[in-house]
Amino acid sequence: MSESTLREDICRYGRSLFERGLTPGSSGNISLRLDDGGWLVTPTNASLGFLDPARIARLDAAGTLLSGDKPTKEIPLHTALYESRTEARAIVHLHSTHSVAVSMLPEIDPRAVLPPMTPYYLMRTGGTALVPYYRPGDPAVADAIRGLAGRYGSVLLANHGPVVAGESLEGAVFATEELEETAKLYLLLRNLNPRYLSPAQVTDLVDHFGLTLPEHDHGHG
Ligand SMILES: [Zn+2]
Repeated sequence: MSESTLREDICRYGRSLFERGLTPGSSGNISLRLDDGGWLVTPTNASLGFLDPARIARLDAAGTLLSGDKPTKEIPLHTALYESRTEARAIVHLHSTHSVAVSMLPEIDPRAVLPPMTPYYLMRTGGTALVPYYRPGDPAVADAIRGLAGRYGSVLLANHGPVVAGESLEGAVFATEELEETAKLYLLLRNLNPRYLSPAQVTDLVDHFGLTLPEHDHGHG
């Protein structure tokens, strides 16, 4: 895919996420890893709803800005996840309401933020880890993401929002949407004693679709 197509794709998905209220104001950012090891990154203080393809930051493999606007200040979130998920080609970070809400609930298991509610949540995200709250810009958050040792492509920053990797931009966007919708379902059903997928149903998904779920070996298996 040409770089200009990828730039258009970032703007198209960004606008779609913004227009559906999945990240407000100038929050949220998107990055893509290119074949030469460099990146396309959305600019700092830019709304995902109004991106200009020509102004997206183009970085080389060392992270030096080659063209476009200054990249988002949240770039350490992206680089930390790329380092630990070598197959990742795209990362989406949003301040999406339901995911942020779930990140503050007392019962959340940091190794499995949401229970196995739907097959597509497990298939698209592979499970989500919770990273504790850090002040925006604190380099320790990148260390916390690296500390997950690549077991999670979907990470929820407490009191902040999700950071989700994918093997394509579409994959990262779809996984982020699936996390947000599942967080919404969780909030709708909280305290209503819902029936989640059983351990046997999760095992069937793992076997049938070849899923790698970090928490499948302990707890659910
Ligand atoms: Zn953020």
